[in-house]
Amino acid sequence: MLTIMPEQRRFSDSELTNMIHSAGLRPSIQRIAVFSLVANSRKHPSADEIFSELTKTYPSLSRTTVYNSLHALVDAGLVRGLEIECGNRHYDLAPQPPHSHFICRKCGKIFDMTIPSGISAAASPGFCVDSVDVYFKGVCPVCSKEV
Ligand SMILES: [Zn+2]
Ligand SMILES: [Zn+2]
Repeated sequence: MLTIMPEQRRFSDSELTNMIHSAGLRPSIQRIAVFSLVANSRKHPSADEIFSELTKTYPSLSRTTVYNSLHALVDAGLVRGLEIECGNRHYDLAPQPPHSHFICRKCGKIFDMTIPSGISAAASPGFCVDSVDVYFKGVCPVCSKEV
C-alpha cells in the first residue's frame, strides 16, 4: 500500500535566500520567487506553470527570466527536473529525502510517495548508481471516486 508523504514545512524567503547563496548563486528576486514556488507549492510545476503563476504576482516578469532562473537553480543543484512525459518537464525541490512520484492519468497531478530504502541495490553488480527515479502511474483517490 502506498502512503502519501506528509506535507512538508514551508521555507521562508530568508531560508531560500540562504540556500541560493550557499549554492554559489546570487539570490535575485526572480530566483527566490521561482525557488519558492518549486519548494513550497509541493505541486511539481512545469516551467509554463511556474511562469503563469509568477506573473500573477510579478506582471512584468518575462518568460526568459523565469526560464533562466529555473535553469540556474537546476545547475546549482537546488531544483531537479522530473522526466515524466516527453517534452514536458516538471520541477521539484532537489535537497529532500529520496521519494518516488505518482502521476494521476486523469487529473495529471504529481504526488510524492515513499520509496523502499536500499532500492539502488537492485542495480546489477558493477553498475554505479548516480540517481534513482521511480514513477507510479495510475488514478489518484479523488479521481477514483469520480467514475
Ligand atoms: Zn487524479
Ligand atoms: Zn516530489
